Amino acid sequence: MKIFQPEQVIVERGSEGSPIYDNLRRTLPQLPFHFVDDVAAANGGASAARDPFGSAKKKLYLAKHKGEFLKKCPGSEGQVCCNYFVINFASNCPMDCSYCYLQEYLADNSALKVFSNVGDLIDEADATLKKHRGVFFRIGTGEITDSLALEPYTGMVREILPYFAEQPNVLLELKTKSDCVDSLLDLDPKGRVVVGWSMNPQRVIDADEHATASLAERLNAARRVQAAGYRLGFHFDPMIEYPGWEADYHAMLEETFATIDWRKLSWVSLGVLRDTPGLKRTMRERFPRSQLLTGEQVLCPDGKLRYYQPLRIQMYRQMVSWIRRAGPTVKVYLCMESREVWEQVFGYAPSCEKELGNQMAPAS
Ligand code: SF4
Repeated sequence: MKIFQPEQVIVERGSEGSPIYDNLRRTLPQLPFHFVDDVAAANGGASAARDPFGSAKKKLYLAKHKGEFLKKCPGSEGQVCCNYFVINFASNCPMDCSYCYLQEYLADNSALKVFSNVGDLIDEADATLKKHRGVFFRIGTGEITDSLALEPYTGMVREILPYFAEQPNVLLELKTKSDCVDSLLDLDPKGRVVVGWSMNPQRVIDADEHATASLAERLNAARRVQAAGYRLGFHFDPMIEYPGWEADYHAMLEETFATIDWRKLSWVSLGVLRDTPGLKRTMRERFPRSQLLTGEQVLCPDGKLRYYQPLRIQMYRQMVSWIRRAGPTVKVYLCMESREVWEQVFGYAPSCEKELGNQMAPAS
């Protein structure tokens, strides 16, 4: 994978004392560092560009996060929720998938930002985790960024991982489409860290997951972190339907299960392509040749476009049957799907979000 390199770093004054600042200085010595009083005011240039969202990915901002770090994943209205929490230590992503929902979600705030106040992040998480020791928290860091793509420069995960590894009631998930795992390999996750890969066949990666790691690179990275003691997760999401999808997805699953020890897999999730009418407009402007624009979708009650329900059920059933054959005891769940679809695929739907969240808790 060609590791992303920003063209410049813009530092909000007050962030210079942060370990992330020191890491950026050390890993990007060749780049100009500019200092500004307010990153929001400094991001004006991108909006004048022909592709403001794409241009925003080229500059890396370092600033304090002023809101809360730890939040409940918003999920999607009316869909079965998996009781996931998110920590946002960065905003936007250096990679550029054509279907990425951030194109709509961050349209008005697209600067590629890393947050410098790591101490506040840990203090906030610590207060919540200690207050609710009897509750199991599954926390992801890849909701509005990729968890690892910026790691070679920021070292953010190295800063926070030792704290989370010590917590008895948490699994921290680092979700990624990169293979930037080098800095994790000498840390001890103590069974508390899952590295989760979003997976698609190479054909989909080539067409729609721009600047991400290849399938072989993702699998190689998964193998390396598993050998270093990390738990693994895989997210076959978004699944794309096209002529011949079955052969490609089946081959990808077989390769995945042959590469890693599936008995130590923490979870596998499945989800189909989801977008909105607004996101489709942006995709048409930014990726007019994407085949994702041509497939048939229906508008669901949560405002998202998905394939017809019978097609989704057929795709999920097929994937579940292949997964069961390759790894009979692997925990599989659906992301942002209705109870009806759950029942059609698994013969049951979780009674509440806590039930599904607790199913993902480690056995020990
Ligand atoms: S890797 Fe994830 S966050 Fe990054 S562009 Fe792709 S979908 Fe968006």
